[in-house]
Amino acid sequence: MTRLKQFPAIDYFRLIASVFVIAIHTGPLSSYWNAGNFWITRVLGRLAVPFFFMTTGYFLAQKQWRNGKSLWKKFLILYVISSLIYLPCNLYLGNFHSASTLQAIFFDGTFYHLWYFPAVLLGIPLSIQLSKLGLRAALPIAAVLYLIGLGGDSYWGGTSQTSSLTCFYHVLFNFFTYTRNGLFFAPLFLLLGAWGWSRSVRWSSAGFLVCLLGMTCEASFLHTLGYPRHDSMYLFLPLCMLCLFSLLLRANSGEQVRIRKATVWIYILHPGCILLIRAVAKYWNLQSLMVENSLLYFFLTCALSFLLSFLIILRPWPAPCPTQRAWKEINLPALCHNAFVLQAQLHPQCQLMAVLKADAYGHGMVPIARALQKSGIQAFAVACLKEAIALRKAGIRGTILILGYTPASQARELARWKITQSLVDESHALLLSAQKHKIHVHLALDTGMHRLGVPAEAYEAISRIYTLPNLQVDGIFTHLCAVESKKTDHIVYTQKQIDAFFCTIEKLRTNGIHPGKIHFQASYGILNLPAYPTQYARAGIALYGIYSNSEPVQKKLDLWPVLSLKARISTVRTLNPGEFAGYGCEFQAQAPTTLAVATIGYADGLPRNFSKTGNYVLLHGQRANVIGQLCMDQMLLDVTGINQVVPGDIITIVGRDAGRMICAETVAEKCGTITNELFSRLGNRLDTVWISQ
Ligand SMILES: *Cc1c(COP(=O)(O)O)cnc(C)c1O
Repeated sequence: MTRLKQFPAIDYFRLIASVFVIAIHTGPLSSYWNAGNFWITRVLGRLAVPFFFMTTGYFLAQKQWRNGKSLWKKFLILYVISSLIYLPCNLYLGNFHSASTLQAIFFDGTFYHLWYFPAVLLGIPLSIQLSKLGLRAALPIAAVLYLIGLGGDSYWGGTSQTSSLTCFYHVLFNFFTYTRNGLFFAPLFLLLGAWGWSRSVRWSSAGFLVCLLGMTCEASFLHTLGYPRHDSMYLFLPLCMLCLFSLLLRANSGEQVRIRKATVWIYILHPGCILLIRAVAKYWNLQSLMVENSLLYFFLTCALSFLLSFLIILRPWPAPCPTQRAWKEINLPALCHNAFVLQAQLHPQCQLMAVLKADAYGHGMVPIARALQKSGIQAFAVACLKEAIALRKAGIRGTILILGYTPASQARELARWKITQSLVDESHALLLSAQKHKIHVHLALDTGMHRLGVPAEAYEAISRIYTLPNLQVDGIFTHLCAVESKKTDHIVYTQKQIDAFFCTIEKLRTNGIHPGKIHFQASYGILNLPAYPTQYARAGIALYGIYSNSEPVQKKLDLWPVLSLKARISTVRTLNPGEFAGYGCEFQAQAPTTLAVATIGYADGLPRNFSKTGNYVLLHGQRANVIGQLCMDQMLLDVTGINQVVPGDIITIVGRDAGRMICAETVAEKCGTITNELFSRLGNRLDTVWISQ
C-alpha cells in the first residue's frame, strides 16, 4: 500500500486539450511536414473539444444534473465576456451583417472559436431533457443526432450526392455554418461524459490506440476522396473519446479547480494572442521568424495564452473560504496510514475490508472509499443497498458486502451492481434464492450476538443454504459482541463465539463443502485478538484512527485520527456578575465573564448534553469551557482570560490546536456515548475540508 496522492487526471488533461486547440489554429508543423501537420490538426486536435464537452457532462452527472442551471448561467456569462473581448476585432474586420450576426450569436459563435459556447448552451438543456429518459435511451438519440451531423461534416461528399439530402442540409446550413454547431455535436459528448460517471467503463489504452488509428485512416481516406466540408466529426471520434475518457477516469483522483479555470481562459484568449503575435511580428518586421516558422508561432501562442490565463486566475487576493461556519477536516493521508497499520496487524493471507457504512462513520463515504481504493484496499462493507450502489456509481471496484438486510425484491439491483449480500437468516436465504437473479452472498452466522445470522448450531440449515440455486455463497462470517471488553466473562464469551464459528466451518469442510471467504474480526477483533488466518477483517472505527471509547486495548497501534471538528466565533460579549446566559438562564456569571458564541450546535450533530458534561473546546490553543444549554445552531463559551478573542476565530471541538488536543473518545464518553455514534450522527450541514497532502 502506498501513501495517498491525488492525481486530478481529468483536469490535467484539459491543459493538453487546450494545447491541441491552439495547434488546430496555428498548425505547428505546417512549414515542415504536411502529413504530420494534417494528423495533428485534423485528427489529434479533434479530440480536444469533445473532451471539454465530456468533462462538463461528467460533472453535471456527478451532481445528478442539479447544477445544470447554474452551470448554464456561467457559460452564458463567459460567452458574453468573450464576445465583448472580440468585439473590437469583429468591428475592425467588418464582420457585421444583420442576418449573419444573429446566426453568429445563436449558433456559429461571435468569433471563430466561440462556437463552443452556443453549442454548450444549447447542448446542456437538451442533454438534461434527454437524460430524464435514462442514459440507455438518451445515448442512442444523441448518437442519431451525431450521425445526422456527420453527414453535413466530413461525410458531406457522400451525402451531397443525393439531392433530397442536399436539400435537407441546405435548410440546416441556413441556421448554422457547420453541423458541429447546434444540436448535433454537443449532446452526444455531454451524455458520454455523464455515462463515464454512471458506469466505470473500462477500456484499455490499446483500445484507445486502435480507435485513434481508425480515426487517422478514416480522416485520410475521406480527405483523399475530397469528402469533408469540415472535419470536426468522424465515426471513430466518439469511440476514441470513450477510451480516452475511461483511461483518464481510472487515473483520476481529486480535482484542480485552478487548472480547470485556466484552461477555459486559454481557450477564450488564444485567438486574441494569435492576433497580437501577428501584429507585433508585422510591426517589428519579424514575420519570417514569428509567424512563418510554424513551430515558433505555435509555441509563442501557447506561451502567451498560458501566461495571460494563469495571470487571470492567480488572483492576489485570497479566495473566499467556504468554511465560514462549522466544518469537519478529513485527513486522507491519516486514513491511508491507518489502513496500512491495520493491514500490517493481520495474518499475511488476510485482507482488510473497509467498513464504510453511515457515510463512513460521518467522514464522507465516497472520497474515503476512493482514497482507500487508491491505496490498495479491495474490499468494502456497507449497511444497505443504497450505500453499496452509491459506491459502485463512484467507481469503486472489488467486493462490496452489505452487512445488513436487503429484501429479496431487490435481488435484481444486487445482481446488476455486482454487490454481495449477507444472508440474515434461513428464510432470507430462501427468498433470495427464489428470485431469478444470480447473486453473490456471504452467510452470516449467529454465534451469540443474536442479531443477524443463521444460528451456528443449525448445521443442517447452513449446509442446505450452500446448495440453494441462484445463490453463490462466497463467504461466511460472524460478528463478536463483547470483544471490546476485558472482563473475564466477556473474554470467555468471545472465545465461545470464535469456537462455535470455526466448529461450523470445520464441519462444512469435513462434509466437502467449501465455506468460501471466512471473516469475523471487526476493529476490536483486530485490536484485542491475535491474527487469525481468515480471509478478511472488517475494520470500521479503527480505520478512522479512533477507538470507540478510552478503554485500554490489547494492541496499542499507532493510529491517526482522521476527523477534526471545527467552528468559528461569531460574537464576543461581557457579563457582569449575576447575569444569565442561554436558554433557561442555565448559566449565571459568578464573576466578570467574557462570553463568546460559536457557530455550531446540536443540529450539526453534537449531542444536546454536550454543554452540561464538562466539555470544553480549544481556542488559540487554550481551553474554553462550554456553558449554558447547547442551542440548535450555536454554543456559548466562557473565554474569560483568553487573549484577543474576535469574531471569525476558529474553535476546535475535536482535534489539535496549537499543541493541545481534544480526543473524540473523551468527548464521546463525556456525552455518555461512543465515538461511533458521535461521528455517524454529524449533520450534513457541516462543510468538509479535505486534507490530502
Ligand atoms: C459495523 C460493523 C463492523 C465494523 O465495526 P467496527 O467496530 O467499527 O470496526 C464490522 N462488522 C459488522 C457486521 C458491522 O456491523
